[in-house]
Amino acid sequence: MEEWHGYTGNVLRVDLGRGKVVIEKLDRAWPKLYVGGLGFASKVMWDEEPPKVDPLSKESLLIATAGPMTGTLAPGSGNIFWAFKSPQTGFWGETRSGGKFGAFMKYSGFDMIIIRGRSERPVYLYLEDCKAEIRDATHLWGMTVHEATNAIKEEVGAKEVSVAAIGPAGENLVRYASIINDYDRAAGRSGGGAVMGSKQLKAIVASGGCGIRVYDPERFLSLCYEAQRAITSDSGNMVMGMHGTIGGVMSLNAMGGLPTQNFRTGYFENAYRVSSDALERNYMIKRRACHSCVIGCSRYSYVSSGKYATPPNEGPEYETVDMAGPMALNDNMEAIIRFNYLANNYGMDTITLGHTISWAIEAYELGMINENDTGGLKLRWGDADTFLTLVDMIAYRRGFGNLLAEGSYVASKRIGRGTEELVNHVKGLELPAHDPRAESKFLAIQYAIGPRGACHEHPIYPSYDLMGVDAGMREVGLPWPLPDRLEEVGVNRGKAYRIIALFGEVINSMGYCNFYAATVAKGSLNPSRIARLYSSLTGIEMNAREIFEAAERTWNIKRAFNLREGLEKAHDSLPKRMTTPILSGPSKGLKVEKPKELVEEAYEAFGWDKETGYIKESTLQRLSLREVLEGLKSIGKVA
Ligand code: SF4
Repeated sequence: MEEWHGYTGNVLRVDLGRGKVVIEKLDRAWPKLYVGGLGFASKVMWDEEPPKVDPLSKESLLIATAGPMTGTLAPGSGNIFWAFKSPQTGFWGETRSGGKFGAFMKYSGFDMIIIRGRSERPVYLYLEDCKAEIRDATHLWGMTVHEATNAIKEEVGAKEVSVAAIGPAGENLVRYASIINDYDRAAGRSGGGAVMGSKQLKAIVASGGCGIRVYDPERFLSLCYEAQRAITSDSGNMVMGMHGTIGGVMSLNAMGGLPTQNFRTGYFENAYRVSSDALERNYMIKRRACHSCVIGCSRYSYVSSGKYATPPNEGPEYETVDMAGPMALNDNMEAIIRFNYLANNYGMDTITLGHTISWAIEAYELGMINENDTGGLKLRWGDADTFLTLVDMIAYRRGFGNLLAEGSYVASKRIGRGTEELVNHVKGLELPAHDPRAESKFLAIQYAIGPRGACHEHPIYPSYDLMGVDAGMREVGLPWPLPDRLEEVGVNRGKAYRIIALFGEVINSMGYCNFYAATVAKGSLNPSRIARLYSSLTGIEMNAREIFEAAERTWNIKRAFNLREGLEKAHDSLPKRMTTPILSGPSKGLKVEKPKELVEEAYEAFGWDKETGYIKESTLQRLSLREVLEGLKSIGKVA
């Protein structure tokens, strides 16, 4: 039997209802067709997830998947990706995190874990040496992420292990519960933690024991060094390492693109109080890096004393800072650090969590909700104490927290009274802390048509017009120069976005951290370098264009998945606030002028029908996605 290189060649299937684990061989054709990571997951989700399934039922799937690069010396490749149907949106769900869990899952012998069923009692999954075992976790149920991780580590002895766990929020089916690995690395968005909780799966523990073979070690190592040199000589990457993502607070505020007061404006006059400078000077212990990372953007911080005293933990990231800070007009950095710690330890997505609370504050301020709704709580801008009280209430679904645990979209539907107008979401997923009105119209497209809803990172941070770089994508067809960041249609924006999105799918399939593609000033992780690394690692010859074609398959399978789940063109639209002018600051008056035309231009670039958003038959045929074509035909959703 021919050996695998880069890939372990093993797929673990876990049926929690039956308490069974089965190891299968990876299909030899898949690396060329889908590369790995979310590419493999999209194929499995299309083939095996029953259409219209309740994502919190025993029939749903939860997939953990790593890329071929994961666990190797390829810089920035230590990632884990999760795929599932989102309990928050009812559409495609995916989420990524760094740390070391992805690498340890591969060292334990697996490229992918496909989990189905629901256990009768809480369990965790233990991986070691190409074997897997379901173990009792009754004693861990109810614990926070940190408590559970510590308890598991004690239980398994001196071994170095990596733990991916859920906290109380996942157990309580908070719809935006996250999966946290290595204590603080959050696979945050779209509710994977709730899916895991619904299966009574508390954790997955990866302890290693296997290696990863490299096809051409000498060439691969030399390419890794070459990539490392390019990345570390890139000023953009190094600034990212020095100041972390929180460095974005001051720069986005200066341009008027720092989401503030539930996206009413893009400017927060006290931004300096929640900046990277404020964090580094007073609360940061050190920088941290994920497995195989040469950037090291992660912060490690704490609050020594006072009412927001917080033990050392990773973060806070830019998104968290904005969602618990400017979005709620809160300028107290200590409260933000505490918020980050609580959210991660309970296992909740900080973006939806903070955004949902800010939405509630605005609804309260406008008199759309009152103390009868909140159980007596007064919601006010800048009130950090009430903000943190709500975090506890949501994690444990207490009182008003039970409603907010559904996210702002569902909560507003239940309340009504005009609160729906204040929700900033696409497909039910709240906008992250990047404002397309001020920052880049690529974001407007991505928010509108992205498979998991409004997201700045999946498939990729797309604002290459703002960064003014091509990241080597011209070689695979990126129109150049890119349009001015605020120009909308008739400037090749749809065509350019297509290449950018596919680059994101390449990154997510290979196992890379998105930041390696988002901060490049000299194309340090460009498509041809990725192709050379891939070929020397796996022995599978693929050039950049072939890898992009595989990525296009993944992108279209996710689209097909969503169409099967009921997606229509109306779901690909931006919230009202994005077409409303920014109220103040340097970007005052800016808005998305032509959201429908932006979406339609992107549809055409992807080979989707302009009127319906359905994938054209010719596109599916070009990509050899025959089963997908048949599946969509059977429900009348092929153009
Ligand atoms: S850049 Fe940041 S998130 Fe990405 S791998 Fe490095 S430390 Fe992790």
